[in-house]
Amino acid sequence: MFDSLSERLGGVFDRLRGRGALSEADVRTAMREVRVALLEADVALPVARSFVDKITEAAVGQQVLRSVTPGQQVVKIVHDALVDMLGPETAELELAVTPPAVVMLVGLQGSGKTTTTAKLGRLLKSQGKKVMMASLDVNRPAAQEQLAVLGTQTDVATLPIVAGQQPVDIARRALSAAKLQGFDVLMLDTAGRLHVDQALMDEMKAVAGIANPAEILLVVDSLTGQDAVNVASSFSEQVPLTGVVLTRMDGDARGGAALSMRAVTGKPIKFAGMGEKLDALEPFHPKRVAGRILG
Ligand code: GDP
Repeated sequence: MFDSLSERLGGVFDRLRGRGALSEADVRTAMREVRVALLEADVALPVARSFVDKITEAAVGQQVLRSVTPGQQVVKIVHDALVDMLGPETAELELAVTPPAVVMLVGLQGSGKTTTTAKLGRLLKSQGKKVMMASLDVNRPAAQEQLAVLGTQTDVATLPIVAGQQPVDIARRALSAAKLQGFDVLMLDTAGRLHVDQALMDEMKAVAGIANPAEILLVVDSLTGQDAVNVASSFSEQVPLTGVVLTRMDGDARGGAALSMRAVTGKPIKFAGMGEKLDALEPFHPKRVAGRILG
């Protein structure tokens, strides 16, 4: 994960640490290299710019430059700024509402929404919650069957499929089934589209209006870099997202989506998809991710 970014930054930091004394010019040169590394990682330009400005300002201070280990100090400043950019702490799901707490997953087709629904259902069940999953995806052929299969694999209940029902009606049926059968959490896997369009947004808003979700999580593919961030901005203009799940982080060498998401959209990354297997979902830990990037 983030290997290419990590390598680039590692090179810059090795050079910084290797010198006994540092001049302001040395720091500025290093920060220019950091900026290039971030842009190559597909971090949004304004985010990279403000990040580098912030660390330059902190790092050219006399206290840092005159310290015994100026290189180490600069690396620490970058680390702290990186954690800050990723989000200061792990963002938890807010499920303390009158049950069933509805968790709605939204996103474009192919982003990993259905897989993430099952992964999260499995995770919540392992934490002792009674979980039901329902697919509202009537666009993609066999999407509802896919979730039913994943439900069997994870031993998480799924709403029985009724052919021909529309998403809003499925949401209503799911809600009353979950209430009647005493489920703690109802996960709604909504339909995706190939692109952000108004029909998709309207459908999402209608479902949210009925289900009153405690969480609306946007699922985006981290491999799409800045596109993922743009998709998140579009969605968050229309629905009150409570967080983001970044899938395919296992294959993301660059890290641009993870690094820009919080700064551009103001939404926390709550989970990271780390593989195709159903246990490959991790809470997103900004400190750990910053640690991995900085090696
Ligand atoms: P949906 O159209 O958004 O519901 O997408 P799916 O859940 O069907 O996922 C599309 C593909 O992405 C499937 O082959 C998943 O196995 C794969 N996928 C989902 N999440 C991850 C992840 O975190 N890592 C990897 N490597 N693959 C994933």
